[in-house]
Amino acid sequence: MKRVYVVSLFLCTLLLLCACIAFASAEDAAKPADGSAKPAPPVAAEPEPALLAEPDAVSVTVGQGCRPKIALLPEGGEPQALFWQSDNPAVAAVDADGNIMGIGAGVCTVTVTCADSALCAEIRVEVTPHAEITYINGILIANKTFALPADYNPGVDEEAGNALEGMIAAAREESIALWVVSGFRSYNTQAAIYANYTARDGAAAADRYSARPGHSEHQTGLAFDLNSLEQTFGATPEGQWLAANCHKYGFIIRYPEEKEDITGYMYEPWHVRYLGEETAREVFESGLCLEEYLNITSVYAE
Ligand SMILES: [Zn+2]
Repeated sequence: MKRVYVVSLFLCTLLLLCACIAFASAEDAAKPADGSAKPAPPVAAEPEPALLAEPDAVSVTVGQGCRPKIALLPEGGEPQALFWQSDNPAVAAVDADGNIMGIGAGVCTVTVTCADSALCAEIRVEVTPHAEITYINGILIANKTFALPADYNPGVDEEAGNALEGMIAAAREESIALWVVSGFRSYNTQAAIYANYTARDGAAAADRYSARPGHSEHQTGLAFDLNSLEQTFGATPEGQWLAANCHKYGFIIRYPEEKEDITGYMYEPWHVRYLGEETAREVFESGLCLEEYLNITSVYAE
């Protein structure tokens, strides 16, 4: 009886040993020949055609823009006929070229559809408000680099308005007629103006002469357009008088000729900005535009 028990134990042990060897061999067989532990890649399935937006989620501040890249898979490359749409243009607008622009704080979805294939992709757009108002050397700045919050709505600055009236009266004494075409503009007014210009001329052209919402100096309440929005105004007696004298009343010609690369705007002989008499005289005598005078940029972040 004891003998049978010993033989059984021996056979069981032998069986277990064999099983272990077989299992170890199977594991070895699964390893690639080079000895690395990587499993063999799965066989790739034929990819479905798809439109890919990169990135498919963006975050911009109000007045800031971006342009996601679109690729038609599996070939790659951007298809020609794309149709762009925002489900909430009050949050983010998108033009025909796919330039997305933050309009108001919130979240919305921009959909791009390929006209040929009806494939579409969605981009989640989060628009955050501007952080704050920027003063540099005590001067409130609104240009392409520095934006104003959407809710900054001061109206015409009282001191600037009084200075403007004084300048117009002084000009009249010299038989120079000056009048206001445009003064304070709210964020929402600027948003509507800019949207009209981009629809008409495209964003690149509009950016040369019109500010994106939040970036207009007219929103400061310290800027005025006088007489005529034509560059030929600069050569008229009124335009010449303004350029030679406005600093005496605290104003500068904000976008001088041949400073477009620095101010970010074409020559605007009609647009004056109030700085106060002392600063305006210093800027005038320096021959610099305000960006040069303060050593700042005027470039959109995108
Ligand atoms: Zn202006």
